[in-house]
Amino acid sequence: MEMTVNKTLVENLKGAIRDVPDFPSEGIIFKDITTLLKQGERFKEVIDLFAARYGPGGPVPGVEAIVAIEARGFILGGALAVALGVGFVPVRKQGKLPAQATRMTYELEYGRDTIEMHQDALSAGQKVVLLDDVIATGGTAEATVRLIQGVGAEVLETAFLIELGFLPGRSKLEALGQSVFSILKYD
Ligand code: AMP
Repeated sequence: MEMTVNKTLVENLKGAIRDVPDFPSEGIIFKDITTLLKQGERFKEVIDLFAARYGPGGPVPGVEAIVAIEARGFILGGALAVALGVGFVPVRKQGKLPAQATRMTYELEYGRDTIEMHQDALSAGQKVVLLDDVIATGGTAEATVRLIQGVGAEVLETAFLIELGFLPGRSKLEALGQSVFSILKYD
């Protein structure tokens, strides 16, 4: 479902994000959200936009938990979970979670990565939103969707502050039958 985000708001938020060229490797333009997060008003605008979508009376009702991806996803996801009054579930890089975890390995441009979620973090049938700061190739989000589905929970929507529209993230998730929402799109 579409939600039109106010143009001035979008410009203000885009203006608060810093582009860092050639980080972490040459040719990548890193979208640095720390410059947005340190501005309380902007940070709140982001959380308010997500909360309007997933809160009472919004277009995506019934959210029972926010699942977010290490590390920047935790900042947005924790704040959103509190705003909605729902639980927060962390998805972490391999070896960080203390209790029994379920894991998923996925391909990166160069090499592979593994993410984990506690086996008892979600229950079967629980309805969640998957949240991260940026969707690029969609590999991380796809692996996370599979982790969530693997324990029988349901992803109502995948949500991102930033969508890199020149990369295939959205189409990858939509091919899995997922709904994709982003506040800021870069083409
Ligand atoms: P991907 O699996 O390619 O969609 O990459 C997603 C993950 O990498 C997210 O957790 C992002 O935080 C991070 N990421 C990828 N590309 C960028 C970028 N250009 N700027 C900032 N973070 C990025």
